[in-house]
Amino acid sequence: MDRKGRKLVLFPLPCQGHINPMLQLANILYSKGFSISIIHTSFNCPNPSNYPHFTFHSIGEGLSESEASIHDGFAFLSLLNTKYVDPFRECLGRMLCDVSEEPVACLISDATFYFTQAVAESLKVPRIVLKTESASSFLVFAALPLLRERGYIPIQDSRLEEPVVEFPHLKVKDLPLVVTSTPEVFYQVIDSVVSETKASSGLIWNTFEELEHSELTRMRNEFPIPIFPIGPFHNASFSNSSSSSLTPEDKSCISWLNTQPHKSVIYVSFGSIADLNEAEFLEVAWGLANSNQPFLWVVRPGLVNGSEWLESLPNGFLENLNGRGNIVKWAPQQEVLAHPAVGAFWTHNGWNSTMESIREGVPMICMPRFGDQLVNARYVSQVWKVGLQLEKGLKRGYIEKTIEKLMVEKEGEEIRFRISKLKEKANLCLKQDASSYKSLESLVSHISSLG
Ligand code: UDP
Repeated sequence: MDRKGRKLVLFPLPCQGHINPMLQLANILYSKGFSISIIHTSFNCPNPSNYPHFTFHSIGEGLSESEASIHDGFAFLSLLNTKYVDPFRECLGRMLCDVSEEPVACLISDATFYFTQAVAESLKVPRIVLKTESASSFLVFAALPLLRERGYIPIQDSRLEEPVVEFPHLKVKDLPLVVTSTPEVFYQVIDSVVSETKASSGLIWNTFEELEHSELTRMRNEFPIPIFPIGPFHNASFSNSSSSSLTPEDKSCISWLNTQPHKSVIYVSFGSIADLNEAEFLEVAWGLANSNQPFLWVVRPGLVNGSEWLESLPNGFLENLNGRGNIVKWAPQQEVLAHPAVGAFWTHNGWNSTMESIREGVPMICMPRFGDQLVNARYVSQVWKVGLQLEKGLKRGYIEKTIEKLMVEKEGEEIRFRISKLKEKANLCLKQDASSYKSLESLVSHISSLG
């Protein structure tokens, strides 16, 4: 394809759940004729050799080793937004001045890198943001100051089951909070993401109109900028050489899936950040073992607090299952979800995982841990009704019953029917003249009209 003679500079947040959608967006916009440059931090960098059609520019370390291992997520995000200001400005400034290259049409930054708005303004380049969450959860984040004023926050245990009047689908316990020792940093980060998103030239979403119509409508009223829901995003191919995984994918699980009956396997993964304590880990393990369903479980090193990997499993746990259970450190998730043997996805409801499950029509067991996952899980279980949420704690008997409900009982059948319909919509919206297709066309003309 002829290139448009315009370059887009993309800047992903260096976390797996942000890199994947940004690289998928890069491929989408490349297919529309733009040249793509990626600015990235030196840690958690995607593999440039998997993207020979893009150019990569590292902005170096920025963080010391101790800073890079900060556990408080929002303190870490706040730090990223101060440490990378100068290296980012220098790198983008150099690219803008380079007359041997195509002119830069705009910067597309992860919304969480809110500092990039001021840098883009000072360098006079338009900035569009990619939001890697659901529209539903971002609306709630944006309303947190109001919800604090109205007394929902700090959350009181006695009010967990109360409805949130401003968000009729949610209960107080679904508010997207995180456990943090620095709540003021959490609110400062949210506030900056919201205000710098409002100041941007547009907002791209990995969602689709038919899924979040009323939330996108509300978003259009509350955010005075063009909004582009162009999802669901997906990997163009399942080959290793096109993966944006930061961890090697264990492809052996695909051969194992090939030996399992149609729609029988529960795929279990809690994403790249969420963790479990040892007691929870054991309940998950026994719940799966006792369910009598085959399962493929991603236990990434570090998932279990205080353990390297599987040490806390009883001796012979997997062997006693005679091949019914398979544990890997990291899976090729999209390929797994697309596999005909997979019948359910037990997920933490990170937005990527949720969208990947919807796109492949796999019903979910929802186990949100914090933040936006809480909102996503509520939508999956109560609004779209394509999953069951584990709301009564993590106990093996309850897990077993929930699995049975989803895999065997009438309720599960209805859920499977609904997700197959949602899958159809997710695929249809990408077709010519459908909602995401049209939204992408408007994004392309919007970019072309900038600057
Ligand atoms: N993922 C993967 N292999 C795994 C687990 C996760 O490729 O074994 C990918 C998954 O497909 C998704 C991303 O990692 O694209 C996780 O993003 P998500 O938003 O679901 O959760 P997060 O990790 O940000 O909590």
